[in-house]
Amino acid sequence: MFQFNYKLKVAERVKAKCERHPRYNPEREGRGGIKGGCSTCFSLFDLHQARLSLDAAHREFLRRATPWSQLRQPRNRTSAPKQKDPPFGSQPL
Ligand SMILES: [Zn+2]
Repeated sequence: MFQFNYKLKVAERVKAKCERHPRYNPEREGRGGIKGGCSTCFSLFDLHQARLSLDAAHREFLRRATPWSQLRQPRNRTSAPKQKDPPFGSQPL
C-alpha cells in the first residue's frame, strides 16, 4: 500500500514599503495604484500576489488533506487574529 506523509509549515514575516511611495498599498490599490511604473512598487505588488497564491495553495492543501488528516487539533491557531476576506471567494474550512 502506498503511503506518504506531508507536514506543512510556513512562517514568514515581511514588512516592506517603497521609499518613494510609502503610502502605496498593493492590497488596496492593486497594480493600478503604482505611480510612474515604480519598480519597487511593482515588487511589492508581486509580493502581494505571491502571498495570495500561497494562501490559496495553503487552503487547497488543507481542503484536500482534511479527509486524510489524523484527528489532532493544529496548534498554530494561537496567532490567527487577522481575519481578512479571502480574495478568491472560498469558504472557510
Ligand atoms: Zn514606489
